[in-house]
Amino acid sequence: MPPPRPPTDAPSESPPREWFDEPDRDTGETGLRFGCTLCGNCCSGPPGYVLFTEAEGRAIAGRLGITEAEFLERFTEDTHHGRSIIDIDTGRGYDCVFLDRTTMPGKAVCSIYEDRPEQCRTWPFWNKLLRSRDDWVRAKATCPGLDQGRHYTPVEIRVIRSGGTPDD
Ligand code: SF4
Ligand code: SF4
Repeated sequence: MPPPRPPTDAPSESPPREWFDEPDRDTGETGLRFGCTLCGNCCSGPPGYVLFTEAEGRAIAGRLGITEAEFLERFTEDTHHGRSIIDIDTGRGYDCVFLDRTTMPGKAVCSIYEDRPEQCRTWPFWNKLLRSRDDWVRAKATCPGLDQGRHYTPVEIRVIRSGGTPDD
């Protein structure tokens, strides 16, 4: 027999408070700011991995106008984390194969942006950046978009984070 359901008007449990729930010392804002500068750093750097689900793989293949099998063969590889989109040593870092540094001079854009995997959609609201303010600040060395641009409320941050990242 299933456990009884709580009454619908029972107060919902709030999540434990985290550092980004506290007002910022300088601005008084809760939450965080993020605005991408299109530097491309998060899609490059040391060899990494970009994981994707089967549905995401199908969507990317559809965007590229190729079969799923061709997508897997040409653009992905097995890693110890699972199947990953490949990266390429460009001399300035291991760029994700879908990072486009030519279309917008001086900028780096994702050529499959609308169909990029969840791992990419949830950046920079990954657990490893959200563990502490220090972790967030350290990540500024990679991502110049942190602490500027659009404001994200603590609720929005939790929703995006819940998309999950491989660095949980
Ligand atoms: S899929 Fe797009 S957003 Fe994700 S790492 Fe590659 S270029 Fe960057
Ligand atoms: S590192 Fe940050 S600013 Fe640069 S492309 Fe990635 S999200 Fe945008």
